[in-house]
Amino acid sequence: MEYTTVIGLEIHAELLTTSKVFCSCKNEFGGEENTRVCPRCSALPGSLPLFGRGAAVLAVKAGLALNCRVNNFSAFDRKNYFYPDLPKAYQITQFNHPICEDGYLMVGGKKIRINRIHIEEDAGKLVHDEAEGVSLADYNRCGVPLIEIVTEPDIRTADEARGFVEQVALALKYAGVCDAKMEQGSLRCDVNISIMPKGSTQFGTRTEIKNLNSFRSVVRAIEYEYSRQKQLVQSGGRVIQQTLHWNDSLGVTTALRSKEEAHDYRYFPEPDIPPLFITDDEILALGKELPVLPQSRQMRYENELGLSPADAALLISEKPLADFFEAAVEVYNNPKSIAAMILVELLRRMNDAGKNVEDIKITPNDLAALCKMADEGTVSRGAAKDILKVMFEVGGNPMEIAKQNGMLMSNDTAEVEKAADEILAANPKAVAEYKEGSGKVFGFLMGQMCRALGKSANPAIIKKVLEEKLK
Ligand SMILES: [Zn+2]
Repeated sequence: MEYTTVIGLEIHAELLTTSKVFCSCKNEFGGEENTRVCPRCSALPGSLPLFGRGAAVLAVKAGLALNCRVNNFSAFDRKNYFYPDLPKAYQITQFNHPICEDGYLMVGGKKIRINRIHIEEDAGKLVHDEAEGVSLADYNRCGVPLIEIVTEPDIRTADEARGFVEQVALALKYAGVCDAKMEQGSLRCDVNISIMPKGSTQFGTRTEIKNLNSFRSVVRAIEYEYSRQKQLVQSGGRVIQQTLHWNDSLGVTTALRSKEEAHDYRYFPEPDIPPLFITDDEILALGKELPVLPQSRQMRYENELGLSPADAALLISEKPLADFFEAAVEVYNNPKSIAAMILVELLRRMNDAGKNVEDIKITPNDLAALCKMADEGTVSRGAAKDILKVMFEVGGNPMEIAKQNGMLMSNDTAEVEKAADEILAANPKAVAEYKEGSGKVFGFLMGQMCRALGKSANPAIIKKVLEEKLK
């Protein structure tokens, strides 16, 4: 029997605030353990949380970037559970009244709905020291603000799931909400997955895979869990609702705990933090602070600028790169030529040098000027690449570089005609062969001409002059 996979995602994204959400400890990655803690985030008796509005601002921006409705009223709740990474023994989250609801993102032309986005605090980290047989707690991450983005079960394949996480990561980066570094854990993903017979509308029992921290592990974990559930069902077994851990090195899921013995979180309204009110004017003002988002740029690049979907996707993959491209197109309106120069020549050099577009010596103006020079035949295509190399390595204006290195193409036909006369006279055999119909020798003669005239030679003019002379 054929089965359909039903997938829903819960994405945790750490917010780029300067301080933690309920205290003034710094919100940073890494550093020495337990150096960014205070009475509030380590829950000393008598300490009270103080909500930093910066987290709400970023959560609203995330909601707008993901096409959600932002609620004027939202409120915090306590989620109670006991675990050593959580000194308070409860997590402050938004359970009944999330800040954003009813959003969506398009993935490969399909609408994936977002049920809700809520604000919550991150827990600490446990480091298990196998040699000593102890676990150590690092509370630097306690109280780091998160948003959790919860989708509807609209996703049907591993690739769709990956596409969705990629699109969310990109939108959050553009909006300045989260740096989305999965390898550092600032974006993490839980996957809910079940299978049902093809054609059925009745969802099967789902399992939840926790804390996937790379695009690749999202795909692998879904594919593994699909086969596991399918095998189980086909051999007469039954999927149990449980929480699973993905073992990336073994490529398998293992059970963490089953929902039958699951925690009762005993949610109740957080008494120490007042509800959050946001006016429509505030929402509107925050919306104006957002840049043009990646999905609309992708559409504009394809539909208005005539780029291929793949080229457009590469350009929008980093906001500074897309901004650089757009600034260059502003100066010289030939998007295809500029995209080609960036994607083929510039990106290769940037990758080799390990540089980002923000760090290079080339300005959008100069790149635009270089593309224009190449398109208009002021310099040859080959020379344009050499000029780009100089611009990349030492900087400078492309016209100046072309002049200094004698790369400007000559449009002086007298010089070309003189060279043609000399070369044809020196190669009577080739001329005779050409006249007998051998097209091959034309290339040879062109080569001789280019060598004689050097870098400044304009191939179009040489070709024209040679053809005239050979008639
Ligand atoms: Zn603190």
